[in-house]
Amino acid sequence: MSYLKNTPDENGFFGEYGGAMLPPPLEPHFKEIREAYQRISKSADFISELRHIRKHFQGRPTPVSYLKNLSERCGGAQIYAKREDLNHTGAHKLNHCMGEGLLAKFMGKTKLMAETGAGQHGVALATAAAYFGLECEIHMGEIDIAKEAPNVTRMKLLGADVVPVGFGGRSLKEAVDSCFGSYMEQADTALFAIGSVVGPHPFPMMVRDFQHVIGVEAREQFLELTGDLPDMVAACVGGGSNAMGLFSGFIDDEDVTLYGVEPMGTSSKLGEHAATITFGEDGDIHGFRTMVLKDEQGEPAPVHTVASGLDYPGVGPEHAHLYRSGKAQYSAANDKEALEAFYALSRHEGIIPALESAHAVAFAMREAPKNPGKSILINLSGRGDKDIDYVTETFGFGENL
Ligand SMILES: *Cc1c(COP(=O)(O)O)cnc(C)c1O
Repeated sequence: MSYLKNTPDENGFFGEYGGAMLPPPLEPHFKEIREAYQRISKSADFISELRHIRKHFQGRPTPVSYLKNLSERCGGAQIYAKREDLNHTGAHKLNHCMGEGLLAKFMGKTKLMAETGAGQHGVALATAAAYFGLECEIHMGEIDIAKEAPNVTRMKLLGADVVPVGFGGRSLKEAVDSCFGSYMEQADTALFAIGSVVGPHPFPMMVRDFQHVIGVEAREQFLELTGDLPDMVAACVGGGSNAMGLFSGFIDDEDVTLYGVEPMGTSSKLGEHAATITFGEDGDIHGFRTMVLKDEQGEPAPVHTVASGLDYPGVGPEHAHLYRSGKAQYSAANDKEALEAFYALSRHEGIIPALESAHAVAFAMREAPKNPGKSILINLSGRGDKDIDYVTETFGFGENL
């Protein structure tokens, strides 16, 4: 536990990355969240209620499955998957949203608020708000609202107020700006719930801690299943929360190599991928220091990937730190590899993965033949129901694979 205890430092720095660069009016509110989290998250009442929720509402623990057919087809390493697709709402995001919702309840807040891109974080947060009897305000760009209609319907059914954002690019970045603006006016009664291990301190630490359950369960389950630890552990990285959840369970195990898999999109040209660690440089984004994909003006660059949940020109500060310190390796899978993995896992294992998670599957399929005798544990961060219409309408049923 030594790494997790000592990282980040008290100012929220993972090595040189992280911190909190806030507009002055927000400073007292983030201080309140920091202090509340430090105090409340260690209390026995909080811990036991969260444990109860994990088991009786979320359906945890989620299993680790041996992907026998896929392993045999690839040849080489044995491939296993931690099944966050079986977590309630179908992805890992509910792990931190239930934690953030419970924190809001303990703090006496009456509302949860957030921005959302594809709507996955919005749906998970709206679920938490419904469970805790809190109001929920979700800011979403108009372009995304049109593209992600089923998630907008879900959020509304769950009782959330979806605020359309109609300025600028009308997408995720504007939704963040809009949400921050609205939060400033109601921070006394609302909690801003960030959707990944990004944002100003304490969010990268807090979201990691709430996702830690993935790694703790996976380590124990893998040992039980195989009698050993995995040689390689891999997860897709957008902001990096599902990866930090899995990594954090193995971070003190010297013999386990950690791999983050970034989206290479359609090419390595700026604007056509979202592989921040692979191609980015140090910079500041949304109130913290990390690695960023920048355009010629030094602004966050446009990004592309077939998996909208990985669509971010920055990355959680802890990943930048793990990369620079050599504690984790980072690799990338492109749209085509992710789609092939999507079809392969569906057809050969009976699991339709989220396109985000398919990047981790693609990594395992590429690495397995090169690593005979080894084992690879990937995080299946979510299920692919949300992606089936898009995939089949655009690419068919994978007949020619
Ligand atoms: C949002 C999402 C991701 C990406 O978020 P991280 O913070 O990088 O984990 C990955 N997989 C699924 C299924 C998602 O919904």
